[in-house]
Amino acid sequence: MSAAISASNPLQPCEQSGPPTLRVGGLTPLTTTDYPGQLAAVLFCQGCPWACGYCHNPHLIPARSDNGRDWEHITGFLQRRRGLLDAVVFSGGEPLYQRGLDTAVTMVRDMGFRVGLHTGGSYPDHLQRLLPQLDWVGLDIKAPFDRYPQVTGVPGSGERARRSLEHLLASDCDYEIRTTVHPLIFSPSGLRDLARQLASLGVRHYVLQAFRDTGCMNSAYQQVSATSLLDSGLRDELQGLFEDFTIRGLAD
Ligand code: SF4
Repeated sequence: MSAAISASNPLQPCEQSGPPTLRVGGLTPLTTTDYPGQLAAVLFCQGCPWACGYCHNPHLIPARSDNGRDWEHITGFLQRRRGLLDAVVFSGGEPLYQRGLDTAVTMVRDMGFRVGLHTGGSYPDHLQRLLPQLDWVGLDIKAPFDRYPQVTGVPGSGERARRSLEHLLASDCDYEIRTTVHPLIFSPSGLRDLARQLASLGVRHYVLQAFRDTGCMNSAYQQVSATSLLDSGLRDELQGLFEDFTIRGLAD
Protein backbone atom coordinates (compact mmCIF):
# COMPACT_ATOMS: atom_id res chain seq x y z
CA MET A 1 0.00 0.00 0.00
CA SER A 2 1.20 3.46 -0.77
CA ALA A 3 1.68 6.19 1.74
CA ALA A 4 -1.52 7.96 2.68
CA ILE A 5 -3.08 9.96 -0.10
CA SER A 6 -4.39 13.19 1.29
CA ALA A 7 -7.99 14.16 0.67
CA SER A 8 -8.80 17.45 -0.95
CA ASN A 9 -12.47 16.84 -0.32
CA PRO A 10 -13.50 16.45 3.34
CA LEU A 11 -16.17 13.94 4.30
CA GLN A 12 -19.50 15.55 3.76
CA PRO A 13 -22.74 14.22 5.19
CA CYS A 14 -25.45 12.99 2.88
CA GLU A 15 -27.61 16.01 2.29
CA GLN A 16 -30.66 16.37 4.47
CA SER A 17 -32.43 18.70 2.09
CA GLY A 18 -31.98 20.09 -1.38
CA PRO A 19 -33.57 20.25 -4.76
CA PRO A 20 -36.29 17.66 -5.40
CA THR A 21 -34.46 16.29 -8.41
CA LEU A 22 -31.08 14.75 -8.97
CA ARG A 23 -27.97 16.73 -9.92
CA VAL A 24 -26.54 14.85 -12.88
CA GLY A 25 -23.08 15.74 -14.16
CA GLY A 26 -23.07 13.55 -17.24
CA LEU A 27 -25.01 11.04 -19.33
CA THR A 28 -23.99 8.03 -21.40
CA PRO A 29 -26.97 7.31 -23.67
CA LEU A 30 -26.15 3.65 -24.40
CA THR A 31 -23.80 1.12 -22.84
CA THR A 32 -23.64 -2.67 -22.74
CA THR A 33 -20.95 -2.82 -20.06
CA ASP A 34 -22.18 -0.81 -17.08
CA TYR A 35 -25.03 -3.20 -16.20
CA PRO A 36 -24.07 -6.72 -17.32
CA GLY A 37 -26.46 -8.20 -19.82
CA GLN A 38 -28.54 -5.03 -20.18
CA LEU A 39 -28.76 -2.21 -22.70
CA ALA A 40 -28.51 0.76 -20.39
CA ALA A 41 -28.11 4.50 -20.11
CA VAL A 42 -25.82 5.79 -17.37
CA LEU A 43 -26.50 8.90 -15.30
CA PHE A 44 -23.37 10.26 -13.61
CA CYS A 45 -24.48 11.84 -10.36
CA GLN A 46 -22.71 14.87 -8.97
CA GLY A 47 -20.94 14.71 -5.59
CA CYS A 48 -18.79 12.25 -3.66
CA PRO A 49 -17.49 12.40 -0.07
CA TRP A 50 -14.27 10.55 -0.87
CA ALA A 51 -11.14 11.51 -2.82
CA CYS A 52 -9.61 8.35 -4.26
CA GLY A 53 -6.26 8.95 -5.93
CA TYR A 54 -7.24 6.88 -8.96
CA CYS A 55 -10.63 8.55 -9.51
CA HIS A 56 -11.26 8.98 -13.22
CA ASN A 57 -14.27 11.25 -12.66
CA PRO A 58 -12.80 13.91 -10.33
CA HIS A 59 -15.06 16.56 -11.87
CA LEU A 60 -17.96 14.71 -10.24
CA ILE A 61 -16.55 14.92 -6.70
CA PRO A 62 -17.77 18.49 -5.89
CA ALA A 63 -21.36 18.60 -4.70
CA ARG A 64 -22.32 21.03 -7.43
CA SER A 65 -21.18 21.83 -10.93
CA ASP A 66 -21.97 24.45 -13.54
CA ASN A 67 -21.96 21.74 -16.21
CA GLY A 68 -24.81 19.62 -14.88
CA ARG A 69 -27.67 18.20 -16.92
CA ASP A 70 -31.13 19.48 -16.21
CA TRP A 71 -33.33 16.74 -14.74
CA GLU A 72 -36.14 17.56 -17.16
CA HIS A 73 -33.66 17.00 -19.99
CA ILE A 74 -32.79 13.61 -18.47
CA THR A 75 -36.40 12.51 -18.06
CA GLY A 76 -37.22 13.70 -21.58
CA PHE A 77 -34.35 11.62 -22.94
CA LEU A 78 -35.45 8.55 -20.98
CA GLN A 79 -39.06 8.91 -22.12
CA ARG A 80 -37.84 8.74 -25.71
CA ARG A 81 -35.82 5.59 -24.93
CA ARG A 82 -38.70 3.58 -23.46
CA GLY A 83 -38.81 0.25 -25.23
CA LEU A 84 -35.26 0.75 -26.56
CA LEU A 85 -33.27 0.52 -23.34
CA ASP A 86 -33.55 -2.15 -20.66
CA ALA A 87 -32.13 -0.22 -17.76
CA VAL A 88 -30.82 2.99 -16.27
CA VAL A 89 -27.67 2.96 -14.15
CA PHE A 90 -27.04 5.63 -11.54
CA SER A 91 -23.31 6.12 -11.31
CA GLY A 92 -21.04 8.88 -10.15
CA GLY A 93 -19.50 10.44 -8.23
CA GLU A 94 -21.46 8.73 -5.49
CA PRO A 95 -25.18 8.52 -6.32
CA LEU A 96 -26.12 7.85 -2.69
CA TYR A 97 -24.70 11.25 -1.73
CA GLN A 98 -27.95 12.84 -2.91
CA ARG A 99 -31.29 12.34 -1.21
CA GLY A 100 -32.86 13.16 -4.57
CA LEU A 101 -31.71 9.76 -5.79
CA ASP A 102 -34.70 8.02 -4.22
CA THR A 103 -37.21 10.08 -6.16
CA ALA A 104 -35.19 9.69 -9.34
CA VAL A 105 -35.09 5.90 -8.92
CA THR A 106 -38.85 5.81 -8.43
CA MET A 107 -39.40 7.91 -11.56
CA VAL A 108 -37.12 5.67 -13.62
CA ARG A 109 -38.82 2.51 -12.35
CA ASP A 110 -42.22 4.01 -13.18
CA MET A 111 -41.00 4.50 -16.76
CA GLY A 112 -40.47 0.75 -16.96
CA PHE A 113 -36.68 0.58 -16.74
CA ARG A 114 -34.65 -1.70 -14.56
CA VAL A 115 -32.46 0.23 -12.15
CA GLY A 116 -28.76 -0.30 -11.56
CA LEU A 117 -26.52 1.49 -9.08
CA HIS A 118 -22.77 2.00 -8.98
CA THR A 119 -21.62 2.86 -5.48
CA GLY A 120 -18.48 3.04 -3.41
CA GLY A 121 -20.49 2.17 -0.32
CA SER A 122 -20.02 5.47 1.49
CA TYR A 123 -23.64 5.65 2.67
CA PRO A 124 -24.62 2.21 4.00
CA ASP A 125 -27.88 3.34 5.61
CA HIS A 126 -29.07 5.04 2.43
CA LEU A 127 -28.10 1.95 0.43
CA GLN A 128 -30.03 -0.31 2.77
CA ARG A 129 -33.17 1.82 2.42
CA LEU A 130 -32.91 1.94 -1.36
CA LEU A 131 -32.02 -1.71 -2.01
CA PRO A 132 -35.65 -2.90 -2.41
CA GLN A 133 -35.96 -0.46 -5.36
CA LEU A 134 -32.80 -1.65 -7.11
CA ASP A 135 -32.36 -4.51 -9.58
CA TRP A 136 -28.57 -4.62 -9.62
CA VAL A 137 -25.71 -3.01 -7.71
CA GLY A 138 -22.04 -2.72 -8.61
CA LEU A 139 -20.23 -2.12 -5.30
CA ASP A 140 -16.59 -1.07 -5.31
CA ILE A 141 -14.48 -2.62 -2.60
CA LYS A 142 -11.31 -0.61 -2.83
CA ALA A 143 -8.98 -2.29 -0.33
CA PRO A 144 -9.02 -4.28 2.90
CA PHE A 145 -11.38 -2.31 5.12
CA ASP A 146 -8.72 -1.23 7.61
CA ARG A 147 -6.68 0.32 4.79
CA TYR A 148 -9.45 2.32 3.15
CA PRO A 149 -8.26 5.76 4.31
CA GLN A 150 -5.08 5.25 2.30
CA VAL A 151 -7.23 5.04 -0.84
CA THR A 152 -10.13 7.38 -0.07
CA GLY A 153 -8.30 9.87 2.14
CA VAL A 154 -11.19 9.67 4.62
CA PRO A 155 -11.04 8.14 8.13
CA GLY A 156 -13.78 5.59 8.79
CA SER A 157 -14.47 4.95 5.12
CA GLY A 158 -13.63 1.25 5.41
CA GLU A 159 -16.29 0.68 8.05
CA ARG A 160 -18.87 2.33 5.79
CA ALA A 161 -17.87 0.13 2.88
CA ARG A 162 -17.98 -2.99 5.04
CA ARG A 163 -21.50 -2.16 6.26
CA SER A 164 -22.62 -1.49 2.68
CA LEU A 165 -21.28 -4.87 1.61
CA GLU A 166 -23.14 -6.57 4.44
CA HIS A 167 -26.41 -4.87 3.50
CA LEU A 168 -26.01 -5.81 -0.15
CA LEU A 169 -25.18 -9.46 0.57
CA ALA A 170 -28.14 -9.69 2.95
CA SER A 171 -30.52 -8.49 0.22
CA ASP A 172 -32.00 -10.29 -2.77
CA CYS A 173 -30.52 -7.74 -5.18
CA ASP A 174 -28.25 -8.93 -7.99
CA TYR A 175 -24.78 -7.52 -7.68
CA GLU A 176 -21.14 -7.55 -8.53
CA ILE A 177 -18.35 -6.62 -6.15
CA ARG A 178 -15.43 -5.08 -7.96
CA THR A 179 -11.95 -3.94 -7.07
CA THR A 180 -9.73 -1.60 -9.06
CA VAL A 181 -6.27 -3.09 -9.32
CA HIS A 182 -3.32 -0.76 -8.98
CA PRO A 183 0.17 -1.48 -7.60
CA LEU A 184 0.05 1.65 -5.42
CA ILE A 185 -2.76 -0.08 -3.54
CA PHE A 186 -2.08 -3.81 -3.90
CA SER A 187 0.73 -6.28 -3.98
CA PRO A 188 -0.18 -9.75 -5.32
CA SER A 189 -0.41 -11.07 -1.76
CA GLY A 190 -2.59 -8.11 -0.77
CA LEU A 191 -4.93 -8.86 -3.63
CA ARG A 192 -5.08 -12.51 -2.57
CA ASP A 193 -5.83 -11.53 1.03
CA LEU A 194 -8.67 -9.20 0.01
CA ALA A 195 -10.21 -11.82 -2.28
CA ARG A 196 -10.10 -14.41 0.50
CA GLN A 197 -11.65 -11.94 2.92
CA LEU A 198 -14.48 -11.17 0.49
CA ALA A 199 -15.10 -14.84 -0.24
CA SER A 200 -15.27 -15.56 3.49
CA LEU A 201 -17.88 -12.80 3.87
CA GLY A 202 -20.07 -14.50 1.26
CA VAL A 203 -19.22 -12.66 -1.95
CA ARG A 204 -20.02 -14.88 -4.94
CA HIS A 205 -19.66 -12.45 -7.87
CA TYR A 206 -16.30 -10.69 -8.00
CA VAL A 207 -14.61 -8.55 -10.64
CA LEU A 208 -11.08 -7.22 -10.80
CA GLN A 209 -10.90 -4.20 -13.06
CA ALA A 210 -7.93 -2.33 -14.44
CA PHE A 211 -7.21 1.20 -13.36
CA ARG A 212 -8.10 3.63 -16.18
CA ASP A 213 -5.87 6.65 -16.46
CA THR A 214 -8.41 8.59 -18.54
CA GLY A 215 -9.54 11.49 -16.40
CA CYS A 216 -7.26 10.64 -13.48
CA MET A 217 -5.59 13.79 -12.14
CA ASN A 218 -3.03 12.04 -9.91
CA SER A 219 0.27 11.61 -11.74
CA ALA A 220 1.53 8.99 -9.25
CA TYR A 221 -1.26 6.65 -10.35
CA GLN A 222 -0.88 7.43 -14.03
CA GLN A 223 2.76 6.35 -14.16
CA VAL A 224 2.40 2.79 -12.88
CA SER A 225 1.01 -0.21 -14.75
CA ALA A 226 -0.97 -2.92 -12.99
CA THR A 227 -0.52 -5.66 -15.56
CA SER A 228 2.25 -7.45 -13.64
CA LEU A 229 0.14 -7.99 -10.53
CA LEU A 230 -1.88 -10.96 -11.73
CA ASP A 231 0.09 -13.98 -12.87
CA SER A 232 -1.74 -17.09 -14.05
CA GLY A 233 -1.31 -18.83 -10.70
CA LEU A 234 -3.01 -16.01 -8.82
CA ARG A 235 -5.76 -15.80 -11.43
CA ASP A 236 -6.50 -19.50 -11.02
CA GLU A 237 -6.47 -19.21 -7.26
CA LEU A 238 -8.92 -16.32 -7.26
CA GLN A 239 -11.12 -18.06 -9.82
CA GLY A 240 -11.59 -20.88 -7.35
CA LEU A 241 -12.86 -18.58 -4.60
CA PHE A 242 -15.96 -17.27 -6.37
CA GLU A 243 -19.00 -18.52 -8.27
CA ASP A 244 -18.28 -15.84 -10.92
CA PHE A 245 -14.87 -14.24 -11.25
CA THR A 246 -14.08 -11.77 -14.02
CA ILE A 247 -11.01 -9.76 -14.94
CA ARG A 248 -11.68 -6.59 -16.94
CA GLY A 249 -9.09 -4.64 -18.85
CA LEU A 250 -5.97 -6.33 -17.50
CA ALA A 251 -3.67 -7.75 -20.15
CA ASP A 252 -2.41 -11.33 -19.83
S1 SF4 B 1 -15.58 6.88 -4.53
FE1 SF4 B 1 -15.57 6.82 -6.80
S2 SF4 B 1 -16.26 8.88 -7.44
FE2 SF4 B 1 -15.66 9.02 -5.29
S3 SF4 B 1 -13.54 9.71 -5.34
FE3 SF4 B 1 -13.51 7.46 -5.19
S4 SF4 B 1 -13.38 6.75 -7.32
FE4 SF4 B 1 -14.02 8.93 -7.38
